Amino acid sequence: MNNKIWIAITDDFELKGEGLGSVYELQYKPSLSFMNLLDDHGIKASFFLETMQQRSFLNYSKKNKSIKNESSLWEKTVKTIIDKKFDIQLHIHPQWFRSSYDGKYWELDKRWDITKYKTEEIDEIITGSVSLLEEKFGKKVVAFRAGSWAAGPPSKTLLKTLEKNRIKIDSSVVYGVRYNGEAAKVNYGNLPCPYYPYYPDYDDVRKISKITTPVVEIPVQAMGRNNINYSTIEKIKLRIDDRLNKLKCRHPSNLDYTKLPSHIPQDPFGFAKENKEELTFTLSSEHNIITLKKMIDFVIKKQLERNQERSFVILANHTKDLQRKSQFTKLKKFIQYIQNKYKNSVQFVTIRDMANNLSLINPIVKL
Ligand SMILES: [Zn+2]
Repeated sequence: MNNKIWIAITDDFELKGEGLGSVYELQYKPSLSFMNLLDDHGIKASFFLETMQQRSFLNYSKKNKSIKNESSLWEKTVKTIIDKKFDIQLHIHPQWFRSSYDGKYWELDKRWDITKYKTEEIDEIITGSVSLLEEKFGKKVVAFRAGSWAAGPPSKTLLKTLEKNRIKIDSSVVYGVRYNGEAAKVNYGNLPCPYYPYYPDYDDVRKISKITTPVVEIPVQAMGRNNINYSTIEKIKLRIDDRLNKLKCRHPSNLDYTKLPSHIPQDPFGFAKENKEELTFTLSSEHNIITLKKMIDFVIKKQLERNQERSFVILANHTKDLQRKSQFTKLKKFIQYIQNKYKNSVQFVTIRDMANNLSLINPIVKL
């Protein structure tokens, strides 16, 4: 592993934030296809396992046969991930904490942001989830990602709890994410260090600490759409692809909330009331391959500008959103693009490789 830039593909492995969807459709099926695709290119990724979902399922397994099946399939899928030598880490959607199931729908907590919970609740959520993964799979997690990307401020209790659980990397911060909804409010609009690993200020994860800290923040790479320049030909291609996609994708993606129980939030992130700046970051989003290529060029350029012996780059993906063959084809093209264009400078690793080699990088500290 001598190349300059290490890229970890990370996947948030979960059902929908509202507790909707099945393990088979949103986790089992797409994660197997995703792993096959990566294996074809000699890549092992890191799956951030949303563990509170499984803890809720386990609570209801004795009472409900179908939930028991869901929970068994979750476990089987995770075992497959491990057997195939992919990495597992911790992802938490705190809304599953003390959730209840009415036989058809989950009623989840209204707070989708872990920093809004009490200290002892945060401890129970994180420590209990770390233990579950250790007991079930014999794996000690070393990296964490907050659900809804929400890691504060206030960040102190969360970061201290990660530290207590010997978690070395937090990868929750994504430059440009802004949520102002009923379930989560996040403002990563103006970050002092959007692209490079840094020691986070424990009071506010967005800021750089004056001292080195046991938990290092490695932000998810992102790029504002307005930073991208398209040529005329690219613009035409984008328009054509856009139309084709609309024809191919006939199934409505929006849920009909009139048919859902009222406790399910309709606009958890406040997208309806806000003019959101378009961002490119999760690989599973509807970005065109042209945009994805521009994103990775931008990301790698940023790393080369810092001119370190070794750089760590984290990319994010959501297997739950990978539901069409064309999306896998696009990802394949994207990976081949990176492997061809940057074959002498880029190496794909897991986030565990990064955690084991933090001494190779110089996380930024406030001078
Ligand atoms: Zn998530």
